[in-house]
Amino acid sequence: MTDLRVPTLRGGDAQRERPLSVTVLTIGAVTTDRLMQVDRLAMPDEEVRVTAVESYDGGSAANVAVGVSRLGVRAAYLGCVGNDSEGDHHRRILESEGVDITRIRTSRTGARTSTVMGFVEPGGARQLYFHGGASDELSPEDLTADTFDGIDRVHLCTLGPEFAERLIDLGRSSGRKMLISFDPGCLGIAGERLHRVRAIAPAVDMLFVNALEFGLLYPHVAPADVGRLSSSELPARMAIKLGQRGAYLYNRDQGVTYHPAFAVAAVDSTGAGDAFAAGCLAGAAQAYGEARLGPFANAVAALVTQQFGCRTGLPTMTRVTSFLQTQSEPTTSGASGRSAQP
Ligand code: ADP
Repeated sequence: MTDLRVPTLRGGDAQRERPLSVTVLTIGAVTTDRLMQVDRLAMPDEEVRVTAVESYDGGSAANVAVGVSRLGVRAAYLGCVGNDSEGDHHRRILESEGVDITRIRTSRTGARTSTVMGFVEPGGARQLYFHGGASDELSPEDLTADTFDGIDRVHLCTLGPEFAERLIDLGRSSGRKMLISFDPGCLGIAGERLHRVRAIAPAVDMLFVNALEFGLLYPHVAPADVGRLSSSELPARMAIKLGQRGAYLYNRDQGVTYHPAFAVAAVDSTGAGDAFAAGCLAGAAQAYGEARLGPFANAVAALVTQQFGCRTGLPTMTRVTSFLQTQSEPTTSGASGRSAQP
C-alpha cells in the first residue's frame, strides 16, 4: 500500500532564508485536499474499501505562495475561505510559512472552504472531485488599487481572463508597472475564455501552460516552434510544461529554449506545476536568465514529485542549490538552455 503520510519536516520558519526585496502576490484558491487510497477506483453504484485517508493543504495559488516564500522571496496570498475551521487552519499554516495573509477574504454567504476529494489507486491513477465553495466567490472586483500596495509581481492561478483584464486595467489607470504572471489552467481557457486569454497574452509578463493548453491557445504551432509566432501574439515570457520531459521557456528577446527534467524517483506529481511556477517566480525575482531559470524551476518541481502532497517537498534555496550540485546536466536530447526537441 502506498504510504500517504506527510513527513513531519516542514519548510516553515526554521528553514526559510532571508527574503529578497521583491514581493509576489498570488491570487486564487486554497483548498483542503482529502486523498483516499483505494485498491481500485469504484465503478458507478459500486462500493470499494478505502485503505488510507490523508489530508493535505493545497490550492494552486496558496501552493505557489508557500513555494516562493520557502525560496526566500516575500510572498502574499489573496483568496477567499469559509468561516470554518479549515479557513482558520489555512490562515495559520500560510502565516507560519511566512506568507502575508492580510488580503485573505472570508465568504459573505456562508460558503465552506474549498475542498478536493481524491481517490488514488496504488499505480497513481486517480479521480479528483473539486468543491469550489468560498474560492468561487473571489471576483475581479475584489482586486482594487490597494490590493497591490507593496507588491512587485502578481501571479494568477487557475482563474479566468477577467482577473488578468482587471489587473491590466488597474495597472493602466494607476500608471503603475505591474508584472503579471498568469497560469490559467484548463478551466481558465475553457470555452469563450480562450480568445480572451489570447487577446491579453501580450500584456502578460509570464504565462504558464502545459502542452495541451498551449495547443488550444496557439493551434498549428508546436511548442518547440513558439518563437515563429509574432511577438505581438505572445507574452514577454512563457513556460510550456511537459511533465517528466521538462519544459520549454520562451523569452521575447531570447526565443525558445528547452530544459529537460531531472531524472528522479517521482512518487506524486500533484503540485509539480505549482512548484515549477514558484521556481520561475523566485528565479525571475533574482533576474535569472532562461538558461538558469529552466534548470532551477525543473529542480524545484523535481523535488516536489519525490514526496506526497503538493507542498511537502517544496524546497528552500539551500536545498535546490545542493540538489543542483549533485545533478549532472540533464541530457534528454539536447543540452539545457539551447533550443532543442525533447
Ligand atoms: P502541470 O501539473 O501543471 O501539468 P507538469 O506535470 O508538466 O505540470 O509538471 C511541471 C514540471 O514538474 C515539469 O515541467 C517538470 O519540471 C516537473 N516534473 C513533472 N513530473 C516530473 C517527473 N516525473 N520527474 C521529474 N520532474 C517532473
